[in-house]
Amino acid sequence: MQNKSIAQMAAELRLRTYSSVELTRHYLERIARLDRRLNSFISVASESALAAAERADRAIASGDAGPLAGIPIAHKDIFCTAGIKTSCGSRMLDNFVAPYDATVVERLAAAGAVVLGKTNMDEFAMGSSNETSYYGPVHNPWDADRVPGGSSGGSAAAVAARLCAAATGTDTGGSIRQPAALCGITGIKPTYGRCSRWGMIAFASSLDQAGVLARSAADAACLLDEMAGFDPRDSTSADVDVPDYVDALDDDIAGLRIGLPKEYFGEGLDPRVAASVQDAIKEYERLGAKVKEISLPNSPLSVPVYYVVAPAECSSNLARFDGVRYGHRCENPKDLEDLYKRSRAEGFGAEVQRRVMIGTYVLSAGYYDAYYLKAQKIRHLIADDFTRAFEDVDVIMGPTAPTTAFELGAKMDDPVAMYLNDIYTIATNLAGLPGMSIPVEPVDGLPVGLQIIGNYFQEARLLNVAHRFQHVTHWHQGAPSGFE
Ligand code: GLN
Repeated sequence: MQNKSIAQMAAELRLRTYSSVELTRHYLERIARLDRRLNSFISVASESALAAAERADRAIASGDAGPLAGIPIAHKDIFCTAGIKTSCGSRMLDNFVAPYDATVVERLAAAGAVVLGKTNMDEFAMGSSNETSYYGPVHNPWDADRVPGGSSGGSAAAVAARLCAAATGTDTGGSIRQPAALCGITGIKPTYGRCSRWGMIAFASSLDQAGVLARSAADAACLLDEMAGFDPRDSTSADVDVPDYVDALDDDIAGLRIGLPKEYFGEGLDPRVAASVQDAIKEYERLGAKVKEISLPNSPLSVPVYYVVAPAECSSNLARFDGVRYGHRCENPKDLEDLYKRSRAEGFGAEVQRRVMIGTYVLSAGYYDAYYLKAQKIRHLIADDFTRAFEDVDVIMGPTAPTTAFELGAKMDDPVAMYLNDIYTIATNLAGLPGMSIPVEPVDGLPVGLQIIGNYFQEARLLNVAHRFQHVTHWHQGAPSGFE
């Protein structure tokens, strides 16, 4: 059952080949049996999942079921869920149960999806390896000694290991695409503002965007159809029509103009990853696409710019975790200052503390112009590079990450080496553009991702371009051994 597409599952639920209760039990059993090896879930919500599955079965029987009725999914533990703990991977929120659902959660529930549980993640979505979680690292299902990528590593590992049909994720600098690449699945980060951020715990508000991790572009389209759209509760939500993503999947791609940024194929890229990405691009040429080299001259500045902008925004967003209103509170505070200091020192891990300190520094009087304002200016130049590129090409392609999954612990002592994992994904967030990662030919049994970047609100095109590739290749179908 776990290898079927979402469309197949939906059809079989309607044919009563199996019920949603049976399908949900099947996934819960897989989680109980297999997740010990992965640690991809922080919370499993068996009772509420089975209750939702029963409701879905009744809705299907009465003929008024939503498009995702009875499909078991998981949410990254950054989305608020009424009644299920929302930890954001942090000790700070280990005791937090939100009183409401995030918009994305609400919309998927309204479409009938069943929530199996909440997935592990880097603390407050800060990381590229899922090793900063308070709940311990997630293991890559393709090789348990390696990282799944981050910060949506729990979602990526759970989907790759077929512990849920699909999962939500968030991407601030690459956190959907990079773990999708390292786990051999399909991930899409929509345009900034396409999916509501309401109820999604904020890391860097001008960069954060919700999206999907799934086994195929077709499956991702099924979820995005429900998640995308204007939300008056999020002031940065885009009031732009949402096309039907599933409808556009099969559109012809003959004549598609693909741009290959020369900056994405230079130093630092593992040559075997490069070869696999180049082979995928040749496949696109066989499908009728035209390839052209382009330049994104300011893209080498994207990592340094991001590590000014993201920490600045995080230092401000995370100020709300003060031990007073909710979250972790230290024992026996001497006075208010002691309460703040100790609650935050105990509640936040090392990476979060590092970011809060960097952010506070770059925003402080005397340094604001030199760092924050300067970074914002370069951010504009990076976005302008894309605007210029999209005058000549329809999509931009390149590697998602410079290497395949690395070993657990390999980069934990070197934050800069860790930050460089996102060298190809961060510029997209700085510009607010949509990006995807799809699996291409593995290297030494480890997955490799092809990144596809589109112009603003071109999610339908991205999913279409990804789907046509998946129609003629089988890389997205491979299951890690032991999880078939
Ligand atoms: N790896 C990047 C970081 O650590 C991006 C994380 C993300 O996209 N949430 O900030």
